[in-house]
Amino acid sequence: MDLGAYHSALARHANTASHTLPSREAVDQLHALLASSTSPGRNPGLPEQGKGASSVLSNIANTIVPSLNGQATTSRYYGFVSGGSHPVAQAADNAVTALDQNVMVHLPDQSAATMVEDVALRGLLELVNLDEERWKGRTFTTGATGSNVLGLACGRDYVLAKKLQKKGNTATPDHLGILGACLGAGVKSIRILSSGSHSTIGKAASVVGLGRASIVELPFSESEPWRLDLAAVEAMLQENDSVNIVSISAGEVNTGRFATTGLEDMKRLRDLADEYDSWIHVDGAFGIFARSLPATDEFKLLKQWAEGIELADSITADGHKCLNVPYDTGIFFCKHLDVQTRVFSNGSAAYLSGGSSEIPSPMNLGLENSRRFRALPVYALLQSEGREGMQQMFVRMVRMARAVAASIRTSEHYELLPSVADQGDKTHIIVLFRAKNDDLNRVLVSKINQTGRMYVSGTMWNGQPACRVAVANWKVNVDEDIKVVEEILNTIAGNS
Ligand SMILES: *Cc1c(COP(=O)(O)O)cnc(C)c1O
Repeated sequence: MDLGAYHSALARHANTASHTLPSREAVDQLHALLASSTSPGRNPGLPEQGKGASSVLSNIANTIVPSLNGQATTSRYYGFVSGGSHPVAQAADNAVTALDQNVMVHLPDQSAATMVEDVALRGLLELVNLDEERWKGRTFTTGATGSNVLGLACGRDYVLAKKLQKKGNTATPDHLGILGACLGAGVKSIRILSSGSHSTIGKAASVVGLGRASIVELPFSESEPWRLDLAAVEAMLQENDSVNIVSISAGEVNTGRFATTGLEDMKRLRDLADEYDSWIHVDGAFGIFARSLPATDEFKLLKQWAEGIELADSITADGHKCLNVPYDTGIFFCKHLDVQTRVFSNGSAAYLSGGSSEIPSPMNLGLENSRRFRALPVYALLQSEGREGMQQMFVRMVRMARAVAASIRTSEHYELLPSVADQGDKTHIIVLFRAKNDDLNRVLVSKINQTGRMYVSGTMWNGQPACRVAVANWKVNVDEDIKVVEEILNTIAGNS
């Protein structure tokens, strides 16, 4: 059979659908199909006899694909922060799958993969205005969660190593483990100081052995909970027997707002971190791309808030959100290649040695030994769009979010959160709002999502249900999309 025909049919299907939710019919059909292949004692996941490629692929096209949500296929899927899949990145991603190139060791005579990764990572640094000479530790991860795990792992190692050194102990935490390092250095607690931290910081804290309870939220005020209280950070750092990682939310997920207000805040944090041997990690999953916006008045405030991130020790960015490459792409930048290599080195296996080179082997910089060629879609996108094209894509996202905020601000039915002032140049890509009518507000998210023409996420703000619009798809078309959004919101309010 011609598998190529199926490839293109599936890709066409996936790219031409424009629904936010699957059709009820398709889901029911799929459930029935899966149930019919389930008889007692039989496992539907592995038939005795194979059904053959054409049967399986048409099943995927006809029942599974229509049962998925169309998050990448429409510009009006505003749930979570879900980027789309830019066609150029998608084509490159398909090549990655076809070639199945492993990216593990830098072996320049055998494969250009690590060189392409290096160029892509340097391109990303350029895109977010970071100096490649200062950010020598850089790698692709599975996503922002993966990058946060790397950041906390490096931070943990660094702060403990510093304490050990001060005690004259030359052993390192990667060797001693957390317990050994803490005992050796007289450390009683390792804390993560943050504000508005993303849930995945808690998960990362659990994974790297610090524990979820190590996170100390230090909000600046009740009205600005995303903002970090620097005086409180300083007081915490001064406490003896503890070591600290400062985790900056550069883009809080409900409001899009930043934990720091710009260069002055970050300079102060840098001084404190240096004085008390702590580590600054920035979770900039989507917010970091505020640094890529054009230097015009329209984006001045956002760019100001995102300033100073260059003073951190490690940075998380997401590839599969605003950047619009397919899933399985996160980015991690670290200023301390030595720390990163110490933590993640897989170097003891002689057969995996790539020799000495400017480009370190990826297996010594992150979690995986073998992994996917994650760089190629990013490389393809950056080469295809250039700085200007990327800027324009980010600009469209911000303008769309601002159009939604402006529309809600003037609506008699809806209310902007955290406050009415949070619009205009304060809006990045996320808009938080609620219905003024409490009865409508309770069902607002599901009413919007039931339309199938627009999808939003529900969240809680100040103990009340709220609605989040996160614009992150390359397809966004401000003039067309805002009409649909307004029509949906007005209809829902009018019918309630
Ligand atoms: C989405 C997000 C994450 C988690 O990213 P994944 O790519 O889903 O792993 C972490 N931090 C922030 C701020 C995010 O927006």
